[in-house]
Amino acid sequence: MEILVNGSTCQVPKGSDGEKLLSVLKKIGVSVPHLCSDPRFPPSSSCRLCEVEVEGSSRPVCACATPVVAGMKIKTHTPELESFRKAALGFLARHFPVADPCHPPGIFEGYLKQYGVESSGEAPTWEPIRDSAHPYIHVDMSRCVHCYRCVHICNDLQGQFVWKTLRRGSALTVMPDSGTTLKESSCVSCGACVDTCPSGALEDARVIEQGAPEAWTKTTCPYCGVGCELNVGVRGSAHERAIVSVRPVMDSPSSKGHLCVKGRYSTGYVGAADRLSRPLVRQKDGSLKEVSWEEGLAEAAKQLKKARDDHGPRAVGVLGSARGTNEEAYLTHKFARVVLGTNNVDCCARVCHAPSAAGAKIAFGTGAATNSFDDIELAGLLFLCGTNATENHPVVGARIKQRQLKGVPSIVIDPRRTELAAHATIHLQLKPGTNIPLFNGLARVIVDEGLVDQEFVRTRTEGLDEYAQGLREWDLKRVSMLTGVPEELIQKAARLYATVRPAMSLHGLGMTEHIQGTDSVVALANLALITGNVGKRGSGVNPLRGQNNVQGTAVMGCEPASLTGSQKFELASENHERIWQAKLPREPGLTLMEMLDEAHAGRMKSLLMIGYDVYFSNPNAHWTHEAMKKLDSLIVVDPFLTKTAEAFATVVLPAVTSFEKDGTFMNGERRIQRVRQALAPFGEAKNDSEIVSALAQQLGIKKGFEFLDASQIWDEIRMLWPAVFGITYERLEKGGLQWPCPTLDSPGVEVLHTNSFSGFEKAKVRGIAYRPTAQRESSDYPLILNTGRSLNHFNVATMTGRTRNRELMPDDLLEIHPEDAASYGVQDGEKVCIESQYGKFVSTAWVTSKVRRGELFTTFHSWDSFVNHAIGTGRDPVTGTPEYKVTAVRVRSLGAS
Ligand code: SF4
Repeated sequence: MEILVNGSTCQVPKGSDGEKLLSVLKKIGVSVPHLCSDPRFPPSSSCRLCEVEVEGSSRPVCACATPVVAGMKIKTHTPELESFRKAALGFLARHFPVADPCHPPGIFEGYLKQYGVESSGEAPTWEPIRDSAHPYIHVDMSRCVHCYRCVHICNDLQGQFVWKTLRRGSALTVMPDSGTTLKESSCVSCGACVDTCPSGALEDARVIEQGAPEAWTKTTCPYCGVGCELNVGVRGSAHERAIVSVRPVMDSPSSKGHLCVKGRYSTGYVGAADRLSRPLVRQKDGSLKEVSWEEGLAEAAKQLKKARDDHGPRAVGVLGSARGTNEEAYLTHKFARVVLGTNNVDCCARVCHAPSAAGAKIAFGTGAATNSFDDIELAGLLFLCGTNATENHPVVGARIKQRQLKGVPSIVIDPRRTELAAHATIHLQLKPGTNIPLFNGLARVIVDEGLVDQEFVRTRTEGLDEYAQGLREWDLKRVSMLTGVPEELIQKAARLYATVRPAMSLHGLGMTEHIQGTDSVVALANLALITGNVGKRGSGVNPLRGQNNVQGTAVMGCEPASLTGSQKFELASENHERIWQAKLPREPGLTLMEMLDEAHAGRMKSLLMIGYDVYFSNPNAHWTHEAMKKLDSLIVVDPFLTKTAEAFATVVLPAVTSFEKDGTFMNGERRIQRVRQALAPFGEAKNDSEIVSALAQQLGIKKGFEFLDASQIWDEIRMLWPAVFGITYERLEKGGLQWPCPTLDSPGVEVLHTNSFSGFEKAKVRGIAYRPTAQRESSDYPLILNTGRSLNHFNVATMTGRTRNRELMPDDLLEIHPEDAASYGVQDGEKVCIESQYGKFVSTAWVTSKVRRGELFTTFHSWDSFVNHAIGTGRDPVTGTPEYKVTAVRVRSLGAS
């Protein structure tokens, strides 16, 4: 398509059809001033600075709202347009403060300079809001230019509706919904308003304190599995650089120009005062002594070797890090298998989404999300199972919420009334641990009422008759009795799910951290199969993976029974041996939980634990303590002295953070994305690959660990795993790619199983029996405790606990229903003791009807509460994933905190 711009013929870039003139002009290098528009929300055309003349139009049109049409003749900078822009800027600059050296100039000040406009210095007739209470966002409404971008982006991208307008005319001001400070408001600290603000009325507090960034690096968020892409802004000299700002990558396929509080602001841990720089070795008196890297590595190697040589390779184990890169995870499993000669290698996927991988593999043949995040906008219905996405995967959560706000039907399965549940068409508020009866009940209605997708079932599945027969025992009365969900609601949900297509399911740990974790995922897959919701856009079964690279770490080989690319050991071992030029051990490896069992039994002697605080994270903390205590040696690799390292490590090797290294992460939609170094390594800290390679060398294995950089490691991964052969670092420069991507010209795959399943022709719909949890209410323990993360912290807060997020959420909170609070004499905000048969913890009560009567919910971030003391021993029999979500407990008030 061609257009004429200021007398020159211009080719409109491919793929711009229907786009607005403003963005097309930008693409072809014509800059038109604008204040109120941002591609992340619909144009409001209120500032009118972007007005251009279009031949045939009686008056100028706003370029932000006018679609491009072939043959258009446009003038962008006529004297009349420029004169209007200057006058408009002059009007907006009336009350704008004079240049402030502490405040980096924004877009608006750039325009003032460009058009030779100065603030008249007129004092406003009202008192503008100035607020610096929020730890990350500085508010100074004396700089507001009434573009309302903050209002629009908060409403249309985040769906939070924090910013309100007050007064009229030139006295109009924008203020948070608290009426006081932003910190007191409903703000979720995503920073989108700061990101869009063109005048600095909203600014990053760190930029005000430390100055504007001097350099930017594009990388990937170190927190959750959404995998948002970031531009990291740093300033300072080479070895004293600090992150002062983070901005979203506008064209990122995973995050679409948005971030949450963690990705945008929670980077303070990188420069935390307690970062480790040099190795530590435990002394005879129990203290940890700082030593040189040579000594630290030699001691770590000696301890691993002793355990292996004295007790055999079954007595050593390795835990890879879900915070590390794919390349690091790959070298970690290679190290375990080739250097230590053991298949005892695992990672924290074991305690979160291992059932998602196992369940998807059983149902579809590939243990990963079937679809992409972009399918959220294509789905006719969203089926959200055990996921509190607005807190735990906030950027995806915001996309889901936007769909709900636009009227797209949704069904939420959750014991709590989460934000998404409150917006849902139907909330199935089931009792914790009853996913299976609920899924079977829904399936029964679908089958009984003839709502099965007959064509899909006939051509793509098998086993429906037997499955339908098995559902006979799941009449609604029984399902309702077990789940606590009214019969009519189950029936209504089943009809809605089966009749609005395509229906996309997304699930979280509310599905997997149960003794029926894998069964729940298979039962959910059954629902997708019988309704034809597989292999199509806007459908599928999609786990929202927890940690940034938890999926990558397991898929890269930190999984005892599989090798690189989750390939079955038996099938891929020969190829690995050929490329690695080494023999692989044949004894089956142990999972994380089995390694701890062995440690508890005194048979596991040494563990290498990378970027994972096992003691603090695992359930049944007293038992974990006993197990760890029995190890002869524990080598911890981490940027910090974690609780595990502090209590049990014999050697600690300091690691860098993801901002200090190169590599790739894999997000929850199978997308491989680049991680790029923005900062020099902290002190003498090293990346995991360097550490593992150095340990290999110390243990006498040099060959196979001599990589110059992360890309060389990735290239070896490509040789071993055909599904990523087509993904090269060179291609990743243009953006992430979703596997399978087997050839160099493959675009990657957005939707799996479009024509066939992996390894079988037809997917089997299989009956799922219900094995109830042993955790039931009793007279001693009358309440059921559920656990989960929160928006402002991540897991055991190793990273967020070292940031200003502590000001946003200082402590863990225990949610208790008002009637239970009254029964047990618990007041809102006071300390309570929660006891189970395994142990107890102290937390702060939040009296709320988000939870049902008889149920409690707690976050588990704080060392002061250490919730895992009370969590029990239940495990999913398929994957060993612990039952974090259901524990019978009692509550006792401890009085005012
Ligand atoms: Fe990072 Fe997840 Fe937040 Fe995105 S949603 S910024 S990946 S924590």
